[in-house]
Formats: sequence, structure tokens, C-alpha cells
Amino acid sequence: MVIVGAQWGDEGKGKVVDLLARDAEAIVRFQGGNNAGHTIVRDGEEFKFHLIPSGILYSDKTCVIGNGVVVDPRVLLGEIDGLRRAGVSVANLRISANAHLIMPYHVLLDTAGETKLGKLSIGTTRRGIGPCYADKALRLGIRVQDLLDEKILRTKIRAALGPKQQALRELAVQRRKQRKEVGEEMRGAPEAVDTPDPRLDVHTMVEEHVSFGHRLEPHIADTARLCWEALDADKTVIFEGAQAALLDLDHGTYPFVTSSNPIAGAATVGAGVGPTDISEVWGIAKAYATRVGAGPFPTELEDETGDRIVERGHEFGTTTGRRRRAGWMDLVALRYAVRLNRMDALAVTKLDVLSGIGPLRVAVRYRSKEGAVLDSFPYHQSILHSATPEYEELPGFDEDLGECREREDLPAAAHDYLRYISEFVGVPVRLVGVGPGRDQVVWLD
Ligand code: GDP
Repeated sequence: MVIVGAQWGDEGKGKVVDLLARDAEAIVRFQGGNNAGHTIVRDGEEFKFHLIPSGILYSDKTCVIGNGVVVDPRVLLGEIDGLRRAGVSVANLRISANAHLIMPYHVLLDTAGETKLGKLSIGTTRRGIGPCYADKALRLGIRVQDLLDEKILRTKIRAALGPKQQALRELAVQRRKQRKEVGEEMRGAPEAVDTPDPRLDVHTMVEEHVSFGHRLEPHIADTARLCWEALDADKTVIFEGAQAALLDLDHGTYPFVTSSNPIAGAATVGAGVGPTDISEVWGIAKAYATRVGAGPFPTELEDETGDRIVERGHEFGTTTGRRRRAGWMDLVALRYAVRLNRMDALAVTKLDVLSGIGPLRVAVRYRSKEGAVLDSFPYHQSILHSATPEYEELPGFDEDLGECREREDLPAAAHDYLRYISEFVGVPVRLVGVGPGRDQVVWLD
């Protein structure tokens, strides 16, 4: 089964995967890198993951970082160390030998690229993910398996580095020019243009990565085969997406998207399984909407209600700490995500956050600048950017939902809200989140 984000990310996928993983043999991440962040609260203890699949808290499950993921080895080793310190075993962690590595120059390029874009910046997490995927497509990528062969590693780093140094030099020159133009004072040493960055020294980089290779070696594997073995033995494998449908590189709000494909179909490519290996697709949606970074967000609330949602929902990024933008549930966008992923069911998280925020609104169509009614998610970015949502108003609820565990415990208005969503998008809501705790959920039929 595949579990994906149905909105703009941060829907609480980690917790749902953690719950559904109970009956699974393996949990596999298939795209993205350490730009994702999952928080799982278990027995009052909070675990944050950026790279390692959420299933790692189960000692008997295999956790896989698939070939479609881009791996920053430094970050991965940091997470492994952190988990070990917390007493969590990582013996069952497997990393695809074909996954690509985020190298120091990717991180530098990401930051320099975003800085250059200025007001037009995408709002990336500046972790080097986009440049790493770009190198993969350029066939200049370094893969996990390369860590195990020093000679190949050195050759590949050399080949990849040339164009990066050139690009970084140009970006640094441009940046200096820009700063001069706006009369920005140059404090301290001027930005190095000709002196090479010490982080880009080939020798140091090779040495460092060889040592990463030694530490990661026990975890490196043919992870596609591992998935086949489990699937062929009729075991459940969960393919866990990071980010979400509306941030999809092809189908999201390009260019304000992530640099991979977080939709269900990508699980096949990013893990190495066939389309018919996927038996079920679950989408995770918050009971409202949030978005991090730049890009269109039709139902955004830039008022007190938005602030209350952010406060009550603690809407700050796990990876970057950035305040998320918040707004009403957008059913036009959700219906699009449901179809795009061919979802079978939805889990609606954070319903508890909406308590006391009624009456509730859900966007049911958009209106274009010219006044045209838009019932479906517009493919043209200019239209989406200027579209205004039209809402249906539904009664709110004031009860604290934190203690609800059975469907009868939920107030009638909460049921009506969920039913409205489910009927609008055409798939059942099977699970409802009523708090951050692992047990704070209500299963619906
Ligand atoms: P992910 O990347 O989709 O896994 O989402 P994050 O982990 O970044 O964000 C989810 C946050 O919401 C975490 O801090 C969770 O503990 C919390 N959370 C998950 N489900 C619920 C819920 O039903 N109610 C509340 N109040 N918090 C939740």
C-alpha cells in the first residue's frame, strides 16, 4: 500500500504510517530527501525523522530508503546516532545502493541558487535536494554504492565538481554585483570568488565519504529485491511518500514544488516495484490546509483565524522551523489529489485543531479573475495564482476532541464536516486524528 500527502505536505503522514505499519513487513520511502520531516509522539516521547522511514520505531520491521530517495550521508548518520542514543535499534534499516547522494556542493548550490532568485525564490529547504536530483538526471550523480569504492568515488566526484565550481563562482560574482547595486555594506571579508571553498576539496570529500561508506555498509542493499521478496510472500509493504500531491514536480504548482514526484505512481519507480504491486492508496489530509514556502495557496487565511490555526496546530516546520501558511480546507485541490493518486481512502488529521474555530469553511470551487467558475483544479498557473475560492459554510464544534476514540465520541458537527469532505472528493475517510499522540485517533469504517 502507498501512503501519500494529499495537500501541500506536513499532513501528519508520519503518525499514520506509524499506525498502519503495525501490520506491515516493510516500510519504504521512495522519494525526497531530508527536506521531509515526520514527527511521531510515542509514549510521550517525540521522535523527529527527516530521512529514516517512520517505521523504524518497530524493531521487527524492515525500513527501507529506496532508490528514489536522495541521501545526505551526514544527515543519515546523524539520525542513526540519534536513534541509537534513544535506545532504538537501526539493525533493520536498509539503504538502496542505487539511491543518490547529496554532496556538499549540492547544498552550496541550493543556497546560492535560492539567494540569487531573491524575491522569486522557491522556498526550498536549502538542503541540496534539487541540485542532487538535477545531477541524477545529468548522469553526474554519486550513488550510495559509490561510497564502497574509493577509486570510482574520486573519479565521479571530480567529474561532478567541475561544473559546480564554475556555477558557484558565477553565482558569487552575481551576488557581489547585486549587493553593490543595492548599496549593501560589505562587512567582514568579501565573498570568496576565486578562493575555492574548503568544503569542495576533492581529497577531503573523498576521505570523508569513504568513512561514511564504512559506517553505512551494513545497511546498503538491493532494496528492490527486498520489496519483491516481501510482496511475493503476500506480506504488506508500505510505501511512504514525503511532501505531497500539490508539491509534485510534474503535477503540482510548478515551479513552487519539490524536486521529486511524491504521488502514489512514483512509488513504483522510487522503490523498484510494478504498478500492480500497489493494492491500495491512502491519502493523508489535514482538516484544514497549510503550505510552507512560496507558491499559490487559494484558501490561505491572512487573518486572526489563520493565526489561531497556526497556534493551535503548532504549524511550524519539523525540518526548518518555518511558520506554515494556514487556510481553510480546499476541496477543489483535494479532489484533484484524490484522482491524481487514485486514492482509496483518506485519513483526516488534526481535526482537534478546528475545535472552537467555527463556523467552518471549505472551498468548493474557484472563480477566475474574469469571473469564470472553476470546478476543477486549474492546470494553468496564471489562473490558479489569481483564482479566488468560493466556500461552503459548515457548522463548527467547540468540544475538545483529544479524548475521542470511537466514532460516537465525535460531535455531530465533526461527523457532518467529515461526511461533507468524503462525499465531495468521493472516497471514505477511514481514520481521523484528534491529537498528536499515537492513540489519539478515531477509526471510521
Ligand atoms: P508529516 O511530514 O506529514 O509526517 O507531518 P509532520 O510530522 O511535519 O506534522 C505533523 C505534526 O502534527 C506532528 O507534530 C504531529 O505530532 C502532529 N499531529 C499529527 N496528527 C495530529 C492530530 O491529529 N492532531 C494534532 N493536534 N496534531 C497531530
